[in-house]
This record gives sequence, structure tokens and C-alpha cells, in this order.
Amino acid sequence: MQMNKTRQLNIERIAETTRENITDYGIPNVFEVAEKLGYRVIRYPIGEDSFLGFSMIRDAEGIIFSNSSTILSREIFTVAHEIGHHKLHLSEQEGKTIIKDETLTGHTEEEIEANYFAACLLMPREKVDKFIRFELHDKPVEKWNGLDIARIQTAFSVSYDMALIRLKELEKLNGEQIERLKQDKAENTASKLLNAIKGNINLCISSDAKIVPAEYLEWAISNYNEKLIPKSSLEAVLNYVDIPVEELNLPPEKSDKDESFDDLLRGVD
Ligand SMILES: [Zn+2]
Repeated sequence: MQMNKTRQLNIERIAETTRENITDYGIPNVFEVAEKLGYRVIRYPIGEDSFLGFSMIRDAEGIIFSNSSTILSREIFTVAHEIGHHKLHLSEQEGKTIIKDETLTGHTEEEIEANYFAACLLMPREKVDKFIRFELHDKPVEKWNGLDIARIQTAFSVSYDMALIRLKELEKLNGEQIERLKQDKAENTASKLLNAIKGNINLCISSDAKIVPAEYLEWAISNYNEKLIPKSSLEAVLNYVDIPVEELNLPPEKSDKDESFDDLLRGVD
């Protein structure tokens, strides 16, 4: 499936507006960017083989979940992709409030668009041009090797493969050059290449981050204090981020109300 040119340009424009004041080549911290855009970002290690993430609107609030068991470069791409779903596809008025991503290889129109948005957000055309000019000194592409891709990876916080896909999309590399650079990765592995240039090796490792917006925790605690939820529900929420409930010096439980708070963080199954 192909996007038409108008839609493509439209997505590029939205990605550019989303980047706003970022002067770096890439986005140093996409999680922070998502928060600044007003989304509640939840990161949790739900296992390598589990789904990648989801975007959701709930009570007029945009939520982005990402699986931090995946390697960081992939998790970054997932969050950029989910921002794309929020910008392009989700709307409470139209009754579409959730999109879950098992993989990022979906071929539906929405998935192709969200991937394109993420690519434009993380590796905008003019930033790639600048990088090639100022950092690679317009080195002829026939002479590029895996180390150059590792440099691009580090500057744009993307995976080796994503860098290649985007460079092909931007017509910087042809099929033959891509194959040669893929070979380079197969022989050396992306982390060795990153190591060699003192690049960002973390991109190849999962962060296993457990991040829940502070507001959710505060809300849970105040709901407990207001006796709206039982201690067990508060405990469940705090367990999620490895905080033992005893650490909070909360007043003892008096209410026996059984209103469940679990659905706050349950997300989707
Ligand atoms: Zn998606």
C-alpha cells in the first residue's frame, strides 16, 4: 500500500511541527518530547515477546505505553510511532480511542502512516542532509561503511536497520549499498560498530524502565487517603513501580470499600 503524495507531505509537515524547537539532529529524549506534547507516558518491561506499545485516549487524556523490554532504539521508534497515531488517527469525537501495536510491520494504512510519521520525526530529511554534509563531510556513499551508519544511529537515536530504511527512503542509498551495509552489520553487529565509534551502545540494550506518570501515583495515594480505594489497590499500583507501600507512612486502612483501582493501569490485554 502506498500513501499518496499529498498525505505524505501532510504527515511530514505534522512531524515537523511536532519537533518544534529541537535543534539537534535527532531527538535526544523522545519520552520527554512525548510528555511535553501533553501525553502521559508509561514505560514498562512486559517481556521481549510481548506487544510493543499502544496509544489511547482516556478521559480526554492522551496516553502512550511502550514496552521497555525491547531494545532502546526500538522503544524510541515505538513511542514516535504512537505519537503518530495520536496526531493522525485517534480522536474521541470519532470514537477511535485506542490502537495497540503488536509489531511495527503492520501493512494497514494507519500503520504505514504512523511508521512514516516516526521516520520523519526521528530523521527529518533536512537534518539527515546536514549530518551527511557536516559530520560525514559529504563522503561518497560508495565509501560508507558500518561505522558511518553507527554514527547516524547515535546522532538520530535509531536502530541500524531503521537508519538504512530511512536513508533508502530519502534516496541517499540504493539497494546495492543497503545490502553491503547490512552485510557489515551481520559481520560486526551493531553494538560492536557503536562501540568502535564510542557511540550510544544503549540503543542496542533494553532499558527495562518502569515509568508511570507521577500524577497517577499521586492520584492513587490521594484516593487511598480519601478512602476511595482499598490499600490492596494502592499496593497494586505502587508495586508496578517497585515502591513498597510501607515506605509512604500512610494512615492505616479504615474503609472497607472495594472499589477497584486496578483498571487505572491495566491498559489493554
Ligand atoms: Zn501502530
